[in-house]
Amino acid sequence: MITIELEAPCKVNYRLDVLRRRADGYHDLRMIMQRVDLCDTITMTLSDTPGVRVTCGSAGVPDGPGNIAWRAAHSLLQQSGSSSGVEITIHKKIPVAAGLGGGSSDAATVLMGVNRLLELGLSDQELMAMGVKLGADVPFFIFKKTAVAQGIGELLTPLDEVPEAWLLLVNPRLPVSTAWVYQNLKLTNRDTISPVPNSYRTIHDLCAVLANDLEAVTIGRHPVIREIKERLVREGAAGALMSGSGPTVFGIFEEEATARACAGKLAAGHDWFCAVVKTL
Ligand code: ATP
Repeated sequence: MITIELEAPCKVNYRLDVLRRRADGYHDLRMIMQRVDLCDTITMTLSDTPGVRVTCGSAGVPDGPGNIAWRAAHSLLQQSGSSSGVEITIHKKIPVAAGLGGGSSDAATVLMGVNRLLELGLSDQELMAMGVKLGADVPFFIFKKTAVAQGIGELLTPLDEVPEAWLLLVNPRLPVSTAWVYQNLKLTNRDTISPVPNSYRTIHDLCAVLANDLEAVTIGRHPVIREIKERLVREGAAGALMSGSGPTVFGIFEEEATARACAGKLAAGHDWFCAVVKTL
């Protein structure tokens, strides 16, 4: 029995600009995306019984074809014509529907893992092309570098330089639907967009570009997100921003100790999910 166990990290957006709505319903974006070391653990085992089986056991995450990891494994099995099956167990640590790309990362990790399990020899480019059909953030997790993502997220350019940082992730445990956020975004279509640097020496350089077009929409519905941003900065973060469509907010810190002290203060008296993480 061949088994592979892999870690699927999550991401934050240092920057998220929405350029325009496309005819296919997606939006053209420009994002700066950073992986961090809060990970789901995924175990994949080759089986003689054809088909895909997913066990997750996490609230709000389906076990069957509704799971994006199931769809990732299924598409690889179909494309390869393999008669094998794959058993997948996902141990979720990344908050769900949180703006952290957990589902996309699970899918990317399954594409990479099953490619190895079945010895298919597909390149990262080929896996990324399959990945974008599953979700716009999937290619980024196969790319594995801090990057500017354009198009719907699939056109990736690595940053030349980016500082390591400690981040405090704070999630107020509110359900936020990405679809709802985009539906409520008042969009002024833009053909040009102000450039962002491709190189960041210090975390202060990074903090200068922090911006997220979706933040105002989610804050309009959940003002606690603004409160969390303000608390993070008051307690020592060099900058703070909502990630993706939210509701997770991250603060950026140079020192781990400052991030941990801030986590202690924010967690006190609230049922917020708080995690100190390092950039990858
Ligand atoms: P997005 O911005 O793509 O919505 P997110 O980080 O905000 O990403 P996810 O945690 O990926 O959100 O979950 C979004 C939805 O996808 C949830 O409603 C969940 O039920 C569904 N889902 C399917 N498979 C998974 C998975 N493996 N992990 C997490 N959620 C999954």
